[in-house]
Amino acid sequence: MARPRLDPAQQAVVSHPAGPLVVLGGPGSGKTTALVELAAHRVTSGLDPSRLLLLAPSRRSAALLRDRVAARLGRIVREPVARTAHSYAFGLLRQDAVRRGLPAPRLLSGAEQELMIAEMLGSDAARWPADARAALRTRSFAGQLRDLLLRAEERGLGPDDLAELGRRHDRPLWVAAAAFAAEYLGVTALAHPGAYDPAELVRAATDLLRADPVLRDEERSRRALVLVDDYSEADPALVDLLGELADGGRDLVVAGDPDTSVFGFRGADGRALLRFREQFGHGGPAAEVVLGHNHRLPAALLEVAGRVARRLGGPAGHRTMRSTRSDAGQVEVALLAGRSDEVAHVAAHLRARHLRHGVPWHEMAVLARSAADLAGLRRALARHEVPVAQRSDEVALWQHTPVRALLDLLAVVTGRDRATPERVADLLQGPFGGLDPVRLAGVRRRLLERERAAGGSRSADEVLLAVVCDPGETEPDDEHLRPLRRVLRAGRRALPHGSVEQTLWTMWDAAAVAERWRRDALAGGPDGAAADRDLDAVLGLFEAAAAFTDRLPGAGPSEFLDHVRAQQIPSPGWSGTAPEREAVSVLTAHAAKDREWDTVVVVRVQDQLWPDLRRRDTVLGTGALVDLLDMRRLPSSAEQVSALLAAERRLFLLAVTRARASLLVTAVDDGEDRPSRFLADLDPEVGTTRPREPGRLLTLPRMVAELRAAVCDPAVDDDARHDAAALLDRLASVGVLGAHPDEWYGLAPTSDSGPLVEPDEPVRLSPSQVEGYLRCPLRWLLQRGGGQQAGALRAEIGSLVHRLAQETAADDLTPAQVWQRYEQLWGELDVGRGWVARRERARVDAMVTRLLAWLESSPRRHLGSEVEVQVRIDDVVVAGRVDRVERDTDGSVVVVDFKTGASAPSRAEAAANPQLAVYQWAVGQGALRSVVDGEAASGGAVLVHLGASSGPTAKEQWQPSLEEAEDPGWPAGLVREVGAGARGSVFAALVNASCPACPVRTSCPAHPEGRRVTP
Ligand code: SF4
Repeated sequence: MARPRLDPAQQAVVSHPAGPLVVLGGPGSGKTTALVELAAHRVTSGLDPSRLLLLAPSRRSAALLRDRVAARLGRIVREPVARTAHSYAFGLLRQDAVRRGLPAPRLLSGAEQELMIAEMLGSDAARWPADARAALRTRSFAGQLRDLLLRAEERGLGPDDLAELGRRHDRPLWVAAAAFAAEYLGVTALAHPGAYDPAELVRAATDLLRADPVLRDEERSRRALVLVDDYSEADPALVDLLGELADGGRDLVVAGDPDTSVFGFRGADGRALLRFREQFGHGGPAAEVVLGHNHRLPAALLEVAGRVARRLGGPAGHRTMRSTRSDAGQVEVALLAGRSDEVAHVAAHLRARHLRHGVPWHEMAVLARSAADLAGLRRALARHEVPVAQRSDEVALWQHTPVRALLDLLAVVTGRDRATPERVADLLQGPFGGLDPVRLAGVRRRLLERERAAGGSRSADEVLLAVVCDPGETEPDDEHLRPLRRVLRAGRRALPHGSVEQTLWTMWDAAAVAERWRRDALAGGPDGAAADRDLDAVLGLFEAAAAFTDRLPGAGPSEFLDHVRAQQIPSPGWSGTAPEREAVSVLTAHAAKDREWDTVVVVRVQDQLWPDLRRRDTVLGTGALVDLLDMRRLPSSAEQVSALLAAERRLFLLAVTRARASLLVTAVDDGEDRPSRFLADLDPEVGTTRPREPGRLLTLPRMVAELRAAVCDPAVDDDARHDAAALLDRLASVGVLGAHPDEWYGLAPTSDSGPLVEPDEPVRLSPSQVEGYLRCPLRWLLQRGGGQQAGALRAEIGSLVHRLAQETAADDLTPAQVWQRYEQLWGELDVGRGWVARRERARVDAMVTRLLAWLESSPRRHLGSEVEVQVRIDDVVVAGRVDRVERDTDGSVVVVDFKTGASAPSRAEAAANPQLAVYQWAVGQGALRSVVDGEAASGGAVLVHLGASSGPTAKEQWQPSLEEAEDPGWPAGLVREVGAGARGSVFAALVNASCPACPVRTSCPAHPEGRRVTP
């Protein structure tokens, strides 16, 4: 690889003759490049590459550095020249162990440490203050204690020192933690000789060099040049290690930017960079080079970065930079009116960068302050046709869907998690069950039918739980349940005889998905990438299980489940697959450290979220301990807030300096969510502007729609319409759906203009259809043809209440029997679980109470329920069922219609209700002879609202007897009118009060969403 062009300051680093040197530079100033070039220069000048040591803060950045050095040298160096401090320390300890004939050292994972700490906490509560004992068994306390011990270790604080500090500052928890630490170190040494936690590792290597001057001198002479990238993230343990390794004015070069130090919560001490000159100087302060050119940020981006950086305190010399980029760059700060607008705007921006500017997807990133936002952002962007990547190495192993499902299955098999209907439903819809919600609903229905046919009374949930989890339950003849039953059965058989790893393997084998996933992975594309990731994740789980069994041979599946599920960060032993090449990265600002993209979007820059100024210290006071050690006193509240604000601003600066060409920063301003003060750092005008509309989303269906609209719009000029038509023609020629006019349904000819009913056939209508037609003929027609709302739970509930009313009267049930019957009928409904089910249950309970009260108080005699009615007038047959027929004390017949909806019509509307009127008319026609002996006059009709009432009694609305009407025959006129219209060929859309809830609105030309889009 050719030598890059260096600016004068970078050149000064490369020409640095010898001794300690600190390189300061803002983001994009080329610090890493300067270090790589210095290394290359020394090697080409004769330095043996094995005498070079380059330290980087993460495995990822170390790997990148290694590649860059190898590329510059044009050869692979046998010993890795770039490593993390942990890797280097580990190497030293291993070398020492080999020399002394001891077993090789081993790194304890965070989860292992937490497991040991939790076990020890569980067995010794006495040493802890009484008010902390209740928390000792929680996972969170174990995690916090581990954190406290790590921070103390990094700062060289032994158990005695910690106890002394605790006594001096009246912190009894520190005193208890110190006693715990002493015992923990002893137990670790006994149970895991040679095992180190990450903080201990670097400290142990330092102690080794201090204790063994021969080894230290050897190591010093082996490392002729030590380079440390991103020294602003160094913790005190690393500083001490470097002190031993490169003391006395040796060649130690560190580079960093104090303004983007963001890992303080992991123990980094951003001030180490500023102390370097004094700390490592030899006969005077160490040399310093400040990089003054920016090679990443074009002028516009550098300008806004400078504005953010200037709000930070501390030395400012490195903040003055000049861009070497010839392009200006693009910065946009956008306020949106809501979350969905924000995502739509981000998606429009990313798609425009890809389609208009040719930026590859993998050259774009979306950054958020909070990890909790990432999953939702990924889903929302994917819905807007933005391909998004989820780096496998950014999520903990258990968070991968197939791993989580396997662990859940293991937990059910071992009894660690109780099998519940919700859990079983989740497993059935997971990767090893393979059902979607619709299929699952079908399975539940069939199981319930089978149960009822066999005379059983269990609910759908109970049957499902039994057939999946109860080995004694007869296997149903349902192919959808077989895979999950097979996996559980295999797990149960393997568990008593095998290790965790073997049990998991047996279950995986029984799932029989490996071959399909392998085929999918080889086929490529988004599905292939997902299958690839899933396979990697499962392999990672087996690796973790094998390592767990090796390290903790006595531990069982329950401990393994705790161990894996407790991991908040990816296991160090498994890093998953590389990110997809053709996808946008969506990650936290912290995860963007050391990375850059052409286009970066920083989202959700909201007040109270960024900066997040909530104090974040733990119960154990780890933050206070670190402050005390670093500042030698506890900071005041004002100092704490100011430190938090500075840390948040550094993180914001880090995020906005990741883009090489285009930066978009977004926030929501909707009165409740307010934009962050940080936005004003970028654009002082931002608070004075109103939220903007989201940008235009460039997707294929949208483009086809816009071209079609242009072609059909007479207001568009001829040239533009012609161009649009030509483009549609091109799209149609490559098969884009909807581009060819043959696929424009609005242009299809009328299939049939004949009448709906043949002239010699009668029209059949129910009384409710008469009412429906009068309200809107088009809705009546479309609903008759199947235009119904899906998921009609309310309709099923309505049927239940009507059935209860009918059975109560027919079988003369007592109230207790009614409630019993109601329970039975409710069990047959598949209402699901959760708050929706609970709300519906409460609503129906109230309806049943009102029904019983109404039946009890009705002064009339019951004649019949669900009474069939059929009457003919000319060529119209009216047929239906009356909910209830009663005889009044004066001998007249009253028609009762139960309503279960949540709203009631007005009194006037009820009085003119066509359905009731048609029933009354039918009574006069003698259509109720099955329950009414002889002649009967109608005594009116009543709507009984069981749902539209807030009290314990139902609301009644009466329609007077037709005999009292000016024209007693008006319902017959309605029937004729509706009959004539219903047999016709034209059905009008009549806009009415029910339009907002109309299920066929999207097919209705009276509303914009249903209007024709073709001329
Ligand atoms: S939206 Fe209104 S006008 Fe259109 S079909 Fe439905 S009820 Fe009729």
